[in-house]
Amino acid sequence: MSRFIASCCALASLFAAGMVGGQRPPSFVLIVADDLGYADVGFHGCRDIPTPNLDRLAASGVRCSHGYVSHSFCSPTRAGLLTGRYQQRFGHEMNPPYAPDNPAIGLPTNEVTIAAILRARGYVSGLVGKWHLGAAPPFHPLARGFDEVFGFLGGGHHYFPEKWTGETEYTTPLIRNRQPVEEREYLTRALGREAAAFVERHRARPFFLYLAFNAPHTPMQAPAEVEERFRAISNPTRRTYAAMVAVMDEQIGRVLDALRRSGIESNTLVMFLSDNGGPTGVNASSNEPFRGAKGQVYEGGIRVPFVLAWPGRLPAGVVYEHPVSSLDLAPTMAALAGATMPTGRPMDGVNLMPYLLGERTDPPHAVLFWRQQGSRPWAIRAGPLKLLASVGQGEPELYDLAADLGERRDLAAERPADVHALRAQWEAWNAQLVPPKWESPRAGQPRREGRGAPRPTAR
Ligand code: CA
Repeated sequence: MSRFIASCCALASLFAAGMVGGQRPPSFVLIVADDLGYADVGFHGCRDIPTPNLDRLAASGVRCSHGYVSHSFCSPTRAGLLTGRYQQRFGHEMNPPYAPDNPAIGLPTNEVTIAAILRARGYVSGLVGKWHLGAAPPFHPLARGFDEVFGFLGGGHHYFPEKWTGETEYTTPLIRNRQPVEEREYLTRALGREAAAFVERHRARPFFLYLAFNAPHTPMQAPAEVEERFRAISNPTRRTYAAMVAVMDEQIGRVLDALRRSGIESNTLVMFLSDNGGPTGVNASSNEPFRGAKGQVYEGGIRVPFVLAWPGRLPAGVVYEHPVSSLDLAPTMAALAGATMPTGRPMDGVNLMPYLLGERTDPPHAVLFWRQQGSRPWAIRAGPLKLLASVGQGEPELYDLAADLGERRDLAAERPADVHALRAQWEAWNAQLVPPKWESPRAGQPRREGRGAPRPTAR
């Protein structure tokens, strides 16, 4: 709660300084990639997949080099992202089975999304893309604060319309609000088109656009003419992955162009991150220089490309090196909109603006925590130290990330006092959590390092 109060104080100071008061509050574009590797963007040095639009976004804002998600796979990260709270506090710790008739499997309805919070401040909110927070009516995005929806409710989707036969979670027709629609475009392009149209439609008022691409998540499907551009890549899976990332980047450019064309670029905070690390063995993504992949709590599973850009307000071309969390984005938006996050419950994310503006030089988080599947894997990061416990292994491992980015040298035996202190901190946090509300057999499978999600239909 003290962080929440600090956020309010920071906001009050912004108002007092006249930096927010009297002006239209900013609009927000939150762009999420699905299973994108840390190394697979130009601004992290990627060489075989150009991402010019993401690079220009990063160059126009702040790149958080220690940007973390609160989970190493899809749905729990999204639950934390939209609520600002560790999702294990409310049992959202597994991917939800696709269950359109089950009103017990989805983001618990007593949790409040940032869309609902912004709505109370007059924002219009749109989801374009993947929901994955429950498919039954109580969990529909229109019931959770969004005013407009275009996309799909499940955890993934085929990319070519001819596959959309409606037989499985991945082949449902796309929906506009609650109605199925006929769509002819490659999915990623359809999402970009709809996102740009949302920007243009609502340019005269504050809006929140949640653009949740399913790219470059499986199934590996890309337009042939784009794949052709990557014929120099010898690994056929990475060739398709490269084309999927390229189309996503092209569509992000389309949205950035829409902001510019609408004349609202300087009044819009754009945020970009991946929902988890790349499942390297599945979609041929790369999390270099990190160890591990999606599903794991090594850096490769939880540290992601993470950018905030707001031309004229945030510094441009800057790297921010204190750890930040996906949990921070909802509280940041709320503070900028002059809204308050829900009270009477722990709020784990913090408003990042005072930190990114250099008004505060201390780290936004003294510690960050992870827990999956009700027990393991788990992790805690405090300063440069990280203690983690993997699935199916024994004692926790201790790493000093300042000296060992790749988590190769386990210091646990050498530094028992650090192990003890970090474990005690993690246990104190763990004692605040509830058990997972549902099971996900696939999510419960231990994953071999570097292999990521075990099969193509994994969410
Ligand atoms: Ca994902």
